[in-house]
Amino acid sequence: MNSYQIETEIDDDEYEQFLNEMYGDINVCGMTMSSGYVLKHMDTIAFDIGKSEYETSLDNDNPKYGCGQCHEPYDDEDEAENCCKTPCETCGELYEDEGDAEVCCTIPCGICGTDHDTEEEAMSCCDDGEPTEEDDEIKD
Ligand SMILES: [Zn+2]
Ligand SMILES: [Zn+2]
Ligand SMILES: [Zn+2]
Repeated sequence: MNSYQIETEIDDDEYEQFLNEMYGDINVCGMTMSSGYVLKHMDTIAFDIGKSEYETSLDNDNPKYGCGQCHEPYDDEDEAENCCKTPCETCGELYEDEGDAEVCCTIPCGICGTDHDTEEEAMSCCDDGEPTEEDDEIKD
């Protein structure tokens, strides 16, 4: 939900370089020119269209995803999605909110609502008012 695909943006020089490598030098009226240079200067529209198609193909070949929160780039969409989430230490469930992760596997006391790590702790939280058998023995 919170990750997004990063669109690759390359600058004109990079695309010119790519065209040069792809098509090599060409001969124009006896002069040797690099094909990237020629296209860039002779047909800027074709150059721009080609560049954006090239960017799209880079995105398709090697998609990158950004974390919606810190914008850290990842190759894997799931990693980007989980980047800034906090896992519950007990069950490993991921939460966007650190507070939610902390209370994930805790058990609230039925009386005061305080969260406890174990069921026993939650049970004994508010019951020290009631005297137990042990307490009676100590009194005698
Ligand atoms: Zn992040
Ligand atoms: Zn949990
Ligand atoms: Zn309590």
